[in-house]
Formats: sequence, C-alpha cells, structure tokens
Amino acid sequence: QAKRLGGDRIEPFRPSFKTHASGRVELESDLRRAFGRNELTLAFQPIVKLATGEIVGFEALMRWQHAKRGPVSPAEFIPIAENTGLIVQLGQFALDEAVRRLSDWQKLPGQSKLFCSVNISSRQLIRQDLVNDVRQILKRYGIAPETLKLELTESLVMDNPERSAKLLDNLKQMGVGLSLDDFGTGYSSLSYLMRFPFDTLKIDQSFLRGDAQPQRPIIVQSIVTMAHQLGLAVVAEGVDNELDAGRLRQLNCEYAQSYMFSPPLTAEEARRRLQDRTTKKAS
Ligand code: C2E
Ligand code: MG
Ligand code: MG
Ligand code: MG
Repeated sequence: QAKRLGGDRIEPFRPSFKTHASGRVELESDLRRAFGRNELTLAFQPIVKLATGEIVGFEALMRWQHAKRGPVSPAEFIPIAENTGLIVQLGQFALDEAVRRLSDWQKLPGQSKLFCSVNISSRQLIRQDLVNDVRQILKRYGIAPETLKLELTESLVMDNPERSAKLLDNLKQMGVGLSLDDFGTGYSSLSYLMRFPFDTLKIDQSFLRGDAQPQRPIIVQSIVTMAHQLGLAVVAEGVDNELDAGRLRQLNCEYAQSYMFSPPLTAEEARRRLQDRTTKKAS
C-alpha cells in the first residue's frame, strides 16, 4: 500500500522490487527515455455488449516495447511511473492518443457512439490539471464527452478524498463517463459508490477468471444486482468461459471485456475489426 509522506512524495511498498532493486533503477531511467524514443504505444481491448457480442468500445492499455528487454508489462512500469511522477506525461499521452484514435473510428459507418476507456492513476487525477486537459482534448478532437470514459481504482480515496470527489464531480459535469475499475478487490470499494459519481462498475477479473470457487457466482450476482439498483452499468472483466458468460447475460450484465472475446489489439487491428463488422452488416 502506497503511503503518503507529505507533498508529492509517495513511498512505495512493492515486494517484487526488493529483489530487483538495480533492475528497477535502470527501468526508471529507461522509462524516461522511452517516451522520446516512441517505445510507448497504446493497445486497445474490445469491450463487447454481452447480449450480442458486438464491439461497443475499447479500453486503452499502455504498452512499452523496450529496445533491449522487449515488452515490459504495465503492471511493472506503471507503478514506477506513478512513483517518479512520470505518470503525468504518460497519462497525457494516453489520453490524447486514445481520443485521437477514437475520433477517427467514430467516423466509420454506425460507429458514432463508440467509446474508449482510459485508465487514470490517482496521482494523475490529483496533480495534473486533468479537468482542463480533458476539456481541451474533447475540443481538439470534437468527440461527444460521454464517449470518453475514465477508469479509476481503489487508491483514489487513500490519497485525497475531498479533492478527488471535487475533480470527479467536475469531470462528471463535463459529461465524461466515470468507471470504477477492479471492483471488489479493495476494502473501501463500496464506500466509493457513495462518495464518487461513477456510472460504470468493472467487476474485477479475480471473480471471473481461473479456479471456480463455489462462492463466485453468488458474489458476481450480488455485485451486478447492486450496481443496477444504483443505476450503474456493469463490465465483467476477464470472463473466461461460456457458463459464466451465460450467467452474466441472464443477470443483464451489459458488457464484457476479456480474452474470450478479444485480447488487446493494435490501433490498426482495432480499426480493421470495426470495419469488418460494418462490412459484414452491409452485405
Ligand atoms: P486494468 O485497467 O484492470 O486493465 C485490464 C487488464 O486485464 C489488462 O492488462 C488486460 O490486458 C487484462 N485482461 C483483460 N482481459 C483478460 C483476460 O481474459 N485474461 C487475462 N489474463 N487478462 C485480461 P494490462 O494491459 O497488462 O494492464 C494491467 C494494468 O496496468 C491495467 O489494469 C491498469 O491498471 C494498468 N494500466 C495499463 N495501461 C495504463 C495507462 O495508460 N494508465 C494507467 N494509469 N494505468 C494503466
Ligand atoms: Mg482499466
Ligand atoms: Mg480492471
Ligand atoms: Mg487492474
């Protein structure tokens, strides 16, 4: 758990780094350079409507192709970016690039409502002038605000709840979507639903992927029911079998995002996927 030391310093506790300390320092300086070297790109994972399987949006996921190491996982470099402040630049890049792509794809026939989700770190929300950035990006690319969705996670409240609430209210007023990511994994996730103006809840993969403990369907059902009663749409993350997908459909869970439907795609592949669909429809 990241602990606030005052100011902007955040002291990380990342067990895996202890054993790879020198590797991390190297990665840190490499990450600074990666930006200028065009080693960072976005992948886009389709989000499908469960009832029909049609692609209704994408989540933008950052990718780092390290010149020597090859691909580095965001699970490894995003925490480094957060702890060094680099996340502000990386986040701005992701937001701009995702909306730029989205505005292009929305011009395809029948795709004007297509949405894109972008992950926002709590540090990025608090430090960066995110509200202004979002306003400018929406204007720059001329997309409808509700087709941009920002994904936020658990660490939100820990850092600065009052400021977070105010910023999220401002974003909400602008019309952008707000998704609570990885729902169910943090101890305060239920209280988030009272504090913050989310419109979408993403059920964490741990409830849908891998070993099927008997409790899982009950937990998933409760989450979907509660979300709907609160007026939230639901995305099931990582659903990996037809049985679970069928159960989710019966619960009227709106969306799914998982390898079962599609892995993350390059921007070019994503565009092609949308085109194929419209071509098929027309014929
Ligand atoms: P996330 O936001 O929860 O994104 C979903 C992650 O689950 C992605 O991993 C995606 O590839 C993976 N995933 C989706 N469906 C399946 C499935 O069926 N099976 C399996 N095994 N995995 C699945 P990825 O791309 O490695 O990203 C990991 C995390 O890194 C993200 O989790 C997010 O928290 C963070 N991240 C990625 N890009 C960004 C970014 O641009 N900004 C920020 N702040 N964080 C990012
Ligand atoms: Mg996410
Ligand atoms: Mg997630
Ligand atoms: Mg996650």
